[in-house]
Amino acid sequence: MIIEKIKESRFTPDVFNIETFGTAFSDHMLLSWYKDGKWSEPIIKPYGKLEFTPAISVAHYGQGIFEGMKAYKSAEGEVFLFRPEKNFERMNKSAERLDMPHITEDIFIDGLKALVDLDRQWVPDTYGMSLYLRPVMFATEEAITARSANEYLFVILTAVAPNYYNKPLSVKIADRYSRAANGGVGFAKAAGNYAGSFYPTHLAREEGYDQIVWTDDATHTFIEEAGTMNVMVRIGDKLITAPTSERILNGVTRDSMLQLAEAQGWDVEVRKITVDEVYNAHKNGNLKEVFGVGTAVVVNNYVAVGYGDERLELPTLSPEESYGQILKKKLVDIQMGISEDPYGWRVKVENLVEA
Ligand SMILES: *Cc1c(COP(=O)(O)O)cnc(C)c1O
Repeated sequence: MIIEKIKESRFTPDVFNIETFGTAFSDHMLLSWYKDGKWSEPIIKPYGKLEFTPAISVAHYGQGIFEGMKAYKSAEGEVFLFRPEKNFERMNKSAERLDMPHITEDIFIDGLKALVDLDRQWVPDTYGMSLYLRPVMFATEEAITARSANEYLFVILTAVAPNYYNKPLSVKIADRYSRAANGGVGFAKAAGNYAGSFYPTHLAREEGYDQIVWTDDATHTFIEEAGTMNVMVRIGDKLITAPTSERILNGVTRDSMLQLAEAQGWDVEVRKITVDEVYNAHKNGNLKEVFGVGTAVVVNNYVAVGYGDERLELPTLSPEESYGQILKKKLVDIQMGISEDPYGWRVKVENLVEA
């Protein structure tokens, strides 16, 4: 790995006061180019611009995939990744589906560790804050031929993730648009999945909702995901989430929360869940929580769910009563090195490079 350090760090403690996500980039980025069937030796260099021509193939045919993960710092100053092998495996599943090359473990995992190590001062130790890590791969061949490209770029960039306070978000159940279909790319973290979700989300915003609860594309009768998160529903004291499928992204947060929920001794069901079931539970007063789970925000407890012209208001639960908030605290405590990690999820970033 080649390391070219920044001459003068751009870091100031002010970067930890940002309120918007995804704009305060750290000093360095990692790059590796794929050409002639192999990846170049990765280089870590100062974060900055790259040069491309308008014929860059990703702009035309959309071979672009990414990952989202975080680095955490404990009060003692130790820096951790969280289950990075899951993101590594998922990136290669996405790559396969988009007919892109696999990334190697030394570039992805060792690259992440080296980059986070070098930029460790950018990892905040405030509870709930972290450094967001964004591995991304896209087709860079200079060709507007409609076929899989022969050249790709793999990049890891990082940005300070602010502490999201729980904004009261509401969601609209999709009854017309879909983010994924059978045989499609819904399970992959493909850039195009996001592109296709923006317009329906925009329409939902005009109706006063923040995000969409995606349903199955064929019948719009099964609950699948919420915004760009997996979704969990609590009916009575039963926690239910849909099984992953080729339409549903296999979230690391979802998987971790299911394990934590089971350890709580709660009644957890991984099965299909219908819109009717949620609607009827609300009518009967049994719908206690609907929440999204994902790396960026961890848990979003929704305050209302829109169904047709109806707005189903959800009860307000205290953090001690809410399954979503209980699981969030358990998870963040493990991620930040506050509680024991019986699952072996934390991966320590050793201090090897001098910043
Ligand atoms: C990234 C993502 C998730 C959440 O996955 P995590 O690994 O928990 O961050 C869920 N759904 C979609 C559509 C996503 O893109």
